[in-house]
Amino acid sequence: MTGLNQQLQARKNAAIPDGIGITCDFYAERALNAEMWDVEGRRFIDFAAGIAVANTGHRHPRIVAAIRAQLDAFTHTAFQVAPYGSYIELAERINRLTPGGQPKKTAFFTTGAEALENAVKIARAATGRSGVVAFSGAFHGRTFMGMALTGKVTPYKQAFGPLPAEVYHIPFPNPLEGITTQDSLRALDLLFKADISPTRVAAIVIEPIQGEGGFNVAPTELLQALRERCDAHGIVLVADEVQTGFARTGKMFAIEHSGVTPDLITMAKSLAGGMPLSGVCGRADLMDAAPRGALGGTYAGNPLAIAAALAVLDVIDEENLIARADVLGQRLKQALTRLAHPRMAEIRGLGAMVAAEFRHPDGRPDPETVTTIQRRALDRGLVLLSCGAYGQVLRFLFPLTIPDGLLEEGLAILKEAMA
Ligand code: PMP
Repeated sequence: MTGLNQQLQARKNAAIPDGIGITCDFYAERALNAEMWDVEGRRFIDFAAGIAVANTGHRHPRIVAAIRAQLDAFTHTAFQVAPYGSYIELAERINRLTPGGQPKKTAFFTTGAEALENAVKIARAATGRSGVVAFSGAFHGRTFMGMALTGKVTPYKQAFGPLPAEVYHIPFPNPLEGITTQDSLRALDLLFKADISPTRVAAIVIEPIQGEGGFNVAPTELLQALRERCDAHGIVLVADEVQTGFARTGKMFAIEHSGVTPDLITMAKSLAGGMPLSGVCGRADLMDAAPRGALGGTYAGNPLAIAAALAVLDVIDEENLIARADVLGQRLKQALTRLAHPRMAEIRGLGAMVAAEFRHPDGRPDPETVTTIQRRALDRGLVLLSCGAYGQVLRFLFPLTIPDGLLEEGLAILKEAMA
């Protein structure tokens, strides 16, 4: 690192707290679709998409135009003070797009963590219960309830207790760790026997594919069994689609792969293609349970972000990004299979939400190989992200609008980085 990047790095170290961890050692100046350029004019291929935010690419012209038009109208009135129709239009579209034929309502917020906070508030208000069950390895955000729900201690929770009470974790199925769906369900049944009566549980929260946890796909039998238990005990089933949403997995929402209808869905990230926007969509009777004035936030449903989200939905539709996710994911899986890195223990995922897990020959997780590949790729101009409980998983999150040539170029760099 030299010149401008180095200067910014020194200023960052002096001015920004260490608690904000940063993947890349360059500073962004410009981005377009699946490429980024740094302050020294160097170009990078983006296989991270701002952590699954730019499914529709950086600065898609449709989305930029929508934001610009809104910018010329108004940027903020606070929906709770002077509401605007675009918020309603987006809610109507989300209500139609999410699975399940029952009447639905949607509320908008700003971050993914806030969506999770509000899903728990809504579930508690609707059920009059307090318990919440989540999964080990899950990631649900950095706010207090987000941390409590998150199933990974380091670095997210260890320095920050006490966390909200009555949050319980059960294991997420993981073939490489020898954890089956039956193990997860046994743990849930045991939890109901040993720790909390199911009649005191407000919600079960699950990512249909764990994102930060390692792109672990929830087996359909698990989701079906959770649905059954939630129905039997009056528990609200929450699908956290913050990372899996908006065409990434070859469906609009990943839960659709299972055919299971959750009661609430949390969404954020690619909803607004880079503008800060999140939402909770779900059964109208549940969504209406919170008292008037108890939901919302000053910036919640910001008009610029809403305008971007409406354009995102148009782009997903017009450019067939749901089908495109499958094509891109297939190509990536084939390329990873061909690379056949000796430490690659598994290639997994749905649609274009694909990851490769690295393990030592004796089965131990191998984050060192992941870090080496990531660094070698970055040196060659390709941005990659890791995930997994030990950082032992490489995840791929390129924009679904990535042109074929750029994908191939990125995969060629990946090959060099893995050599
Ligand atoms: N849930 C999931 C599944 C996530 O992947 C994330 C972010 N990685 C969050 C919640 C939190 O979102 P945010 O960082 O916008 O608060």
